[in-house]
Amino acid sequence: MKATIGIEVHAELKTKSKMFCGCKNNPHESQPNQNICPVCLAHPGTLPSVNADAVKKVLMVGAALGGKLADFSEFDRKNYFYPDIPKAYQLSQLAYPLVTRGTLSGVAITRVHLEEDTARSQHSTNSSAVDFNRAGVPLMELVTEPVIHSAEEAGSFAKELQLLLRTLGVSDANMDKGEMRVEANISISATEELGTKVEVKNLNSFKILESAIKYEVSRQTEKLKSGEKVVQETRGWDESKARTFSQRVKESPDDYRYFPDPDIPKYQLSEIDELSSSAVSATLPALPTQLREKYQSLGLTALQSEALVADFRLKPFFESLLERVGTDEKLVKLAANYLTSDTRALLGEDNKALELSAVQSFVVLMTMLKDQEINSRIAKDILPEVLFANVRAREAVAERGLLQQNSTEDLLPIVNEVIAQNPDVVEEYKAGKEASLKYLLGQAMKATKGSANPQLLTELLVRELSK
Ligand SMILES: [Zn+2]
Repeated sequence: MKATIGIEVHAELKTKSKMFCGCKNNPHESQPNQNICPVCLAHPGTLPSVNADAVKKVLMVGAALGGKLADFSEFDRKNYFYPDIPKAYQLSQLAYPLVTRGTLSGVAITRVHLEEDTARSQHSTNSSAVDFNRAGVPLMELVTEPVIHSAEEAGSFAKELQLLLRTLGVSDANMDKGEMRVEANISISATEELGTKVEVKNLNSFKILESAIKYEVSRQTEKLKSGEKVVQETRGWDESKARTFSQRVKESPDDYRYFPDPDIPKYQLSEIDELSSSAVSATLPALPTQLREKYQSLGLTALQSEALVADFRLKPFFESLLERVGTDEKLVKLAANYLTSDTRALLGEDNKALELSAVQSFVVLMTMLKDQEINSRIAKDILPEVLFANVRAREAVAERGLLQQNSTEDLLPIVNEVIAQNPDVVEEYKAGKEASLKYLLGQAMKATKGSANPQLLTELLVRELSK
């Protein structure tokens, strides 16, 4: 038995206004019904107008996927009634998606189109209320070919898509906030022919996506093994019971009686300057795959590259650093090290990006470390001030007398002083207690405020103790 999986992803686009009206696009507005107008409430006589920025954002995704960008744009009405859809139809694209084909992480893309989000229903015991802040928010829908064969593959595809959407700046794509919603179509078959397709909806984390697929694969496999048929249906995920459950029998496009919306003009996109494929391609930033390749060619490890590509607090900072010192491989590696380990630890859960104004001082700090003007202890001590307090590395080091002491002449008197002050410890060391050396080294380092060259200090101490 073989599992075949196709993925559908909806992502809320980060535009200023809604898809077909001038209302503010803020689906997270806490006060209900703040960002509404006659258009998104579907009052009689109102007319929609297309948000060009939303079109552009979907075309950018298409260009990044290497897909074919449409030249003709038309919106269709997808007809159904639900209280969260005031027009009794959703504006979507059936016949003319903005993007066809393309690939991501080796997964073939079928289409990417543009539609509008629905309102939010809130149900309580005795009543239901509808909040229309989200109604008409631009929504991108991406559909893959059924070419995925495992839960892990589906999970890594979804993660890569999230990273791409964020890199392009088209969506924040947080799954827990509903900004990116994933559905999986899963079928099982013992032959080359595809089995009956089951759609699982409302998968709001990567972990749930993978769990739901694994559950569905084993549920359907058991059914087929015991001679039963799999029903074509839509299922949901019950997190508390860790299983999928039946929601409704699956609709087909025919059920929605799609037809072209007569109110929205049809556009020839190549005739609109900002939406022509050359204009769209020109606005693409460096894509995750390109950045990974670039960083690894600079000698960074795969893990470091991934951290710098995916962590948006670090990426612009590192890119700006590369513009200054990109040819100095040793310095670049050192900087990548300090950014992906110490700096990330300092940032913790903070979402704020590093200030680019700190790049120059950070470069100086790393250069001083590389040239052994300071040791790593001092670099780590100064790092937070350089990154977050506009402190200039060289001045701070000089003012506090922290330049690395690399000369025997400077360090020898300190070593002898420490030996003279700790006769008991020296005795213990001479009697064979290795830990005593560490203590003496610590004392000597302390006396230099941590600025001694550690190798030289150790050498001198061992030499003097052996006298
Ligand atoms: Zn509106």
